[in-house]
Amino acid sequence: MIRESARVVIVGSGMGGGTLAWGLAQRGIDTLVLERGQALPREPENWSPEAVFTERRYKPAETWLDDEGQEFHPGVHYVVGGNTKVYGAALPRFRERDFLRTEYPSGVSPAWPFSYADIEPYYVQAEALYRVHGSTGEDPSDPWRSRPFPYAPLPHEPYIEETMARLVEQGVHPSCTPMGVDLRPGGSCIRCQTCDGFPCRLGAKSDSETCALGPALAGGSVRLLTGARVTHLERGAGGMIERLHGTVDGEPLVVEAGAFVLSAGAANSAALLLASRTDEHPMGLSNSSGLVGRNYMVHNNTHIATIDPRRRNDVVFQKTVCVNDFYDDLGDGYPGGALQAIGKVQGSMMKTHATKVPRSVLDRMASRSMEWVVMSEDTPSVHNRVTVDQDGRIHVSWRRTNYDRHEALLGKVRSLLRSTGYTAIFEQRFSIDMNSHMCGTAVAGTDPETSVLDPWCRSHDSANLLVVDSAFFPSSAAQNPALTIAAQALRVAQETDWDEVAS
Ligand SMILES: Cc1cc2nc3c(=O)[nH]c(=O)nc-3n(C[C@H](O)[C@H](O)[C@H](O)COP(=O)(O)OP(=O)(O)OC[C@H]3O[C@@H](n4cnc5c(N)ncnc54)[C@H](O)[C@@H]3O)c2cc1C
Repeated sequence: MIRESARVVIVGSGMGGGTLAWGLAQRGIDTLVLERGQALPREPENWSPEAVFTERRYKPAETWLDDEGQEFHPGVHYVVGGNTKVYGAALPRFRERDFLRTEYPSGVSPAWPFSYADIEPYYVQAEALYRVHGSTGEDPSDPWRSRPFPYAPLPHEPYIEETMARLVEQGVHPSCTPMGVDLRPGGSCIRCQTCDGFPCRLGAKSDSETCALGPALAGGSVRLLTGARVTHLERGAGGMIERLHGTVDGEPLVVEAGAFVLSAGAANSAALLLASRTDEHPMGLSNSSGLVGRNYMVHNNTHIATIDPRRRNDVVFQKTVCVNDFYDDLGDGYPGGALQAIGKVQGSMMKTHATKVPRSVLDRMASRSMEWVVMSEDTPSVHNRVTVDQDGRIHVSWRRTNYDRHEALLGKVRSLLRSTGYTAIFEQRFSIDMNSHMCGTAVAGTDPETSVLDPWCRSHDSANLLVVDSAFFPSSAAQNPALTIAAQALRVAQETDWDEVAS
């Protein structure tokens, strides 16, 4: 039996957990981070499309189950740094409207329990911590900011510049994607082709291990225990959490702490709360609202490959441009969403989906294609939920919501890109396993009947329990989530009275 104790224990070292650890380190708070995975090794396979995408070298073998009992491989990475070790490092802020209630023709995106102004100072800090490069004044949907981006935007390569000029001719305003890579003067990023979806061999990607957890550990007040898989929490008198249980390499683990913070990712944090059920609390912990696991959102996303047969795409670092003209209004009075270039897809990566197409054909396509993600907001629904069975396996019930907006945005994007010379467009709509933007399974709010957490991510039911991963999102917005997770973790670190919480 391994016994540990700390003032604050954090479960998970991804965007939420790693960033919170950094925030607590600034306050010198004794913190233990429990991470089920190990550090992702720096090795040649980091940059091998075959190893990363075909062999799924860095993904767990674990499968989850859908409504029909079909297994699928979720978009999770159980390593130090969590999903940020492979993420695309696009780090935009959510817009002011994203924190307000939005009514769509077939769904409602609820208001957050705090405003853009409340979180703005922490966006500033998160952009500095995660070395975000960006520009202001180009993107019509940009929210106001109290400080400029800490680093200059990533320059576009010639092919992208030409594409942007064609987009401008169509009346839209392409802008620089805010990116977290180390292109500071003397920085270690080499702008390679293997960034989005790959681990960085050089440590030049702004992942939570590199930018937050590593520096936190160096400070001395934060410790990390790897291979530590938490299985459940134990509730004591007055709703307080007394200890958590798990295993380290098969050996039982018990941790006592003043405060318990879950940041295991939206599905796993909900699963932990649900798996902590007892006869006295058969619905699990922090679940008096019945909402733990519900309101699971993932974004409505589609990858598109657009081919202009007359132009060879020789770009190396493609993920520098986005178009947000349709973000607030698609032209019909309702929000649309975002269009964002993604990392350059190589023929070998296309092969993981287009299994029957010869590789030589895919390579030819890849040499003339540009790849994008079309992202729009899904809305919360109590049907869409994570549950956990007696064996601890995760089940996901998921139906698309607000999808008519996604269809409308796709239609707009198709005609825009066709008019810039892309005569062929191939689409891959995100399926249940493409859930890397998952959120919403323990929503924050002010009313304990309609939310699980308070506006500072503290459980309504258990005063020393918090959840700081994307589970707290009341709505998903239509921008990449990681910077908002980081900003809220910094807000929680700084605005929480840890003496009171962990007393
Ligand atoms: C390929 C890919 C590309 C992406 N690109 C972008 C992008 O460009 N921009 C963006 O904003 N977002 C992107 N994302 C999404 C982004 O990575 C996530 O939104 C973010 O990492 C979520 O943070 P989190 O703290 O909620 O969870 P995670 O970062 O996933 O961290 C959860 C951690 O908890 C650990 N854990 C889980 N269960 C347990 C347990 N029982 N005990 C102990 N530890 C546990 C996990 O091992 C993991 O380390 C991408 C994701 C992927 C996979």
